[in-house]
Amino acid sequence: MLFSSTISVVSYVREFFEDFFANNEMLMCHFCDHNINFQTKNTIITHIGFKIHACNKKEKEKQQIKKR
Ligand SMILES: [Zn+2]
Repeated sequence: MLFSSTISVVSYVREFFEDFFANNEMLMCHFCDHNINFQTKNTIITHIGFKIHACNKKEKEKQQIKKR
């Protein structure tokens, strides 16, 4: 079996499952409806650090609590 040198989206999803999910080989943010270029881990970490991301995350969490 051949393994490509490109890091698969799945490995990142495993690492950042709280914030991202895989969608058509793309890394998507749960909270911002934003897709990430996952070739560079920095992009992911930068995105998680964004204020807007933290805000969206809080809002989603609030909504989920309300639903229950
Ligand atoms: Zn985000």
